[in-house]
Amino acid sequence: MLKTLGYAAMSSTTPLVPFTFDRRQLRDHDVQIEILYCGVCHSDLHGVRNDWKKTIYPIVPGHEIVGEVRGTGAKVKAFQSGDVVMVGCLVDSCRTCASCKQGLEQYCEKEKIWTYNSPEPHYKDRVTYGGYSTQIVVDENFTLHVPKKFKKEQLAAIAPLVCAGITTYSPLRHWNIGKGTRVGIVGLGGLGHMAIKLACAMGAEVVLFTTSQDKVKDGKKLGAHQVVLSNSPEEMNKVKGSCDFILNTVAASHNLDVYFEHLKRDGTMCLVGIPADPHPPITVGHLIFSRTKLAGSLIGGIKETQEMLEFCAQHNITADIELIPMEKINEAYERMLRSDVKYRFVIDVGSLRDC
Ligand code: NAP
Ligand code: ZN
Ligand code: ZN
Repeated sequence: MLKTLGYAAMSSTTPLVPFTFDRRQLRDHDVQIEILYCGVCHSDLHGVRNDWKKTIYPIVPGHEIVGEVRGTGAKVKAFQSGDVVMVGCLVDSCRTCASCKQGLEQYCEKEKIWTYNSPEPHYKDRVTYGGYSTQIVVDENFTLHVPKKFKKEQLAAIAPLVCAGITTYSPLRHWNIGKGTRVGIVGLGGLGHMAIKLACAMGAEVVLFTTSQDKVKDGKKLGAHQVVLSNSPEEMNKVKGSCDFILNTVAASHNLDVYFEHLKRDGTMCLVGIPADPHPPITVGHLIFSRTKLAGSLIGGIKETQEMLEFCAQHNITADIELIPMEKINEAYERMLRSDVKYRFVIDVGSLRDC
């Protein structure tokens, strides 16, 4: 067994603490990865605090992983020792259902295995443990190549691409966002800031809706053509009915009605935030009188995630990050709850090895 040091939460009310566990021995198609960096997603916080009422403790979060291959199983062809690779939110799926066959493993109809907190098929009575740890063993089919264009000094800043990046890239592609479309992005956090960069690179006109006055300047710097303070009714009234598509990344329960008013006829608002508490009910009149739609979207499949990485390399898109040592994770969660992230925390996993 491969002894691994990680950080885990033992309950929903206690901080994350050092935790030692084993990774499985390599199977034929496994890749052993020494983790260098791991992004901190708001989903990690939802999981640790049991917001979705599904957490099994101990939980080792982390699904924005960059690392270096240290070993490969006997039949691995696509990777070799020394390769720089990434692992996102999924580490396996049934591979046979209609969704899996179409490269949409995230919608697997049978048994998708999340990077953490999913039943671990290789151990009895254990869940998968994520990237807040020194190493991970993952099937090569769920391991991603880091495009050569990215430089070594960019590795920490690309970690968030495999969750925050793909979760915003996938719906932007699905709804054909590009030149000639006007897109609203709601919430400027990890997902929101990636959404602005990606939608701009796709050629769209972007309007950011934020509740934070101090993020207005940053929103423009990130590429938004317009920034609207969503808690100011006066500002919200100015831009009504102007968006073809809205991507709502907010992590908390909030009034969705105000955003429907910003859609054009036949427009869609896609939710990606998964708050602990339900949103207040929507006014159906908004859907009926403008034939607008409310939708959702879940990360992206492996093929599309690789495509997104190539797109980001081509457009030199990385995340704006604050690199933290492992022991600052509990403080980072508190800041995330206050919307005080600019714009993604990334853990320097080397700091864990020194613990
Ligand atoms: P984050 O970095 O914490 O950003 C969330 C942003 O939402 C905040 O920065 C803030 O932006 C806004 N916000 C927070 N509380 C608010 C409130 N009460 N009212 C209005 N706006 C508020 O979180 P993230 O990592 O981007 O994740 C966002 C959500 O997406 C989480 O729920 C996460 O679990 C979910 N997620 C879903 C998927 C998927 O596949 N669907 C994948 C990854 C994450 P402003 O300061 O600009 O208002
Ligand atoms: Zn995530
Ligand atoms: Zn499947």
